[in-house]
Amino acid sequence: MAKLRFDALHVLLNRAPGDIPEPTEKISDYYGRNVFHDSAMQQFLPRSVYKRVKECIDTGERLERRLADEVASGMKAWAMDKKVTHYTHWFQPLTGRTAEKHDAFFTPTEVGQSIEMLGGDQLVQQEPDASSFPSGGLRNTFEARGYTAWDPSSPAFIIDSTLCIPTVFVAYTGQALDFKAPLLKALHSLQEAAVPVCQYFDRNVNKVQATLGWEQEYFLVDDALFKARPDLALTGRTLFGHSSSKGQQLDDHYFGSIPDRANAYMREFEKESHLLGIPIKTRHNEVAPNQFECAPIYEETNLAVDHNQLLMDVMEKVAHKHGFRVLLHEKPFAGINGSGKHNNWSLATDTGVNLLSPGNTPKTNIRFLTFFINTIKAVHDYDDLLRASIASAGNDHRLGANEAPPAIISIFIGSQLTQVLNDLEKRVTDKDMSPDEKTDLKLHIGKIPEILLDNTDRNRTSPFAFTGNKFELRAVGSHANCSSPMTVMNTIMARQLKIFRKDVDALIKKGKKKDVAILTVLRKYIVASKDILFEGNGYGEEWVKEAAKRGLSNIKTTPHALDAFLSKSSVKLFEEEGVLTKEELEARNEIYYENYQMKIQIEARVAGDLVGNHIIPAALAYQQKLISSVTGLKTIYPEKEFQRLAKPHLDIISKVSERVERIQTSVEKMIDERKKANKLEAKPSSLAYCKNVLPYLDEIRYEADKLELIVEDDLWPLPKYRELLFTR
Ligand code: ADP
Ligand code: MG
Repeated sequence: MAKLRFDALHVLLNRAPGDIPEPTEKISDYYGRNVFHDSAMQQFLPRSVYKRVKECIDTGERLERRLADEVASGMKAWAMDKKVTHYTHWFQPLTGRTAEKHDAFFTPTEVGQSIEMLGGDQLVQQEPDASSFPSGGLRNTFEARGYTAWDPSSPAFIIDSTLCIPTVFVAYTGQALDFKAPLLKALHSLQEAAVPVCQYFDRNVNKVQATLGWEQEYFLVDDALFKARPDLALTGRTLFGHSSSKGQQLDDHYFGSIPDRANAYMREFEKESHLLGIPIKTRHNEVAPNQFECAPIYEETNLAVDHNQLLMDVMEKVAHKHGFRVLLHEKPFAGINGSGKHNNWSLATDTGVNLLSPGNTPKTNIRFLTFFINTIKAVHDYDDLLRASIASAGNDHRLGANEAPPAIISIFIGSQLTQVLNDLEKRVTDKDMSPDEKTDLKLHIGKIPEILLDNTDRNRTSPFAFTGNKFELRAVGSHANCSSPMTVMNTIMARQLKIFRKDVDALIKKGKKKDVAILTVLRKYIVASKDILFEGNGYGEEWVKEAAKRGLSNIKTTPHALDAFLSKSSVKLFEEEGVLTKEELEARNEIYYENYQMKIQIEARVAGDLVGNHIIPAALAYQQKLISSVTGLKTIYPEKEFQRLAKPHLDIISKVSERVERIQTSVEKMIDERKKANKLEAKPSSLAYCKNVLPYLDEIRYEADKLELIVEDDLWPLPKYRELLFTR
């Protein structure tokens, strides 16, 4: 029974040490080689077509159907040059990470031969038989299939011998069935809202893009050990496992030297990423043992999201070659750090300005304060929505646990900017300011330092921190599609900037000077959104109390967090910004509830199987061994001595029995609760799974982990935490 574990350890011990390849080329020599990017387009498209494609990408206009044929033919020629034989529309359905269905270029001709073809039709639109993708009832209602449509703003790329064309996935009525469609709409809405605000400061701004730089955390586990852990294999996390005597207490893993095997793996997946134009730049060890992080240079948000999705696939694929499994789950191991995916977010203009970067003149600093304070106001007004956007069964285990931000959304801005906001609040008044006061205020604003000393990574406990020239949303889970939080972030910002523009224009109409009008409105926002600013320790118990006093939400579980998507104000927001309709929001929530419910259902089943087939049999086998030994003792010792000598055996025998009994009772109760929950609709079912099923997983685990401590190591069937975390 324990054979699998020992075989796995045997494989592991005999693994060759990491073979770190010698670099043969500079990264810049092969960066983007497998991407149909600008220079490839120039080479393979007629000049006029190239120009029009660029224009469409820039303006978001649709490419004329006639030109699609030419683009397809250029793309095919480029791909065939690289030995590509197939193409696929690549998309991001609401469950699962990415989807693709490959078709060959090859097409038979009438005379019994064949040619390679890719027409405009195939490039622009496809109808995958996608009836198994979740639609939250959208497709049933409209009795239609979904189709995928080309997103020209994200370049096509090659994986193995397949040309992948990034697409949105929608129902035939146009309703979004994926993550990308609403993101593109949110980004469009943001652009519309931000440009007019930029023009208060610079008439030359015509375009504003949201930028995203994600940081991907992950664990590596040896492939052989992974296979011996059915819970890891089926749920992505360990449902059992007593904590290792040594965990992360010593902080000796963080930023330590990267182990050779992991290093070899990283070099290979980075190379694969670079070929795909994913600008990975940073790698390091994370806090927990066998936990690591990588991060790219930031990019325009839509592209950055695609690159993150792609990276996760690449990481998994390359891991196999190195005898690893990469764990992207938010909390694969209890008691040590989980994995997140910080989303660094900012706004950039086509004039090369980062709108969240303090400048060195009063004017650039008023611009900075405008975008900075509007972000705070947006997050303040829609904190529950932001919380909902990062909700998942996996992330529920992470938020509020070891070194992860709590489920309370607050904003850290650092002491210098806190001072700036306090000053602004004091100095700007609704009364007309005297010329002296105005000059003084401007001088003051001009003094905001360009480099903010306390805004690096100082407060790691905040879920939303200003880090010098960008905000960092740290509550995102490692497995998440960044589209979800980025759609919300950019939609609420778009909304807020439109309100801001209106508020300022109203004051200008009343005769206020532009700068005074802007500062007056900003002051109003500071007062209105102060409550969400928090500089202290977000991990502390005091903060939970303080936040409650301030009226901030602390929504700990996904089924409850999801409500925010359907609140009156959210529906209004999404509809008015043209991002999602009420039906789409309802359909999405339906999918999220179902997804949550199914995840916990699978975990509960796996837990039941594992205790039944692995853990209890191991415990009973050990007990049997003890019973034989007691019987043996009885035959060789006189009664009195036997009593004394048998006592430790008997103690363990009864402990095993008690724990096994408790496990069995809990499993039975858990199955009953599951049966009840399964009869309910998606939302009440997910609530029932959360409230009535999930607690049994903890109870069962508690007892099983205690058994792990007493049962003889040779009999224990599952690789232990110390083996999963400390062998490399
Ligand atoms: P760290 O936070 O680890 O100290 P950095 O601040 O340099 O490191 O960057 C962290 C992440 O933030 C990187 O992924 C980087 O690309 C991203 N980032 C930096 N500037 C911006 C920006 N203007 N917009 C979005 N992301 C950014
Ligand atoms: Mg960071």
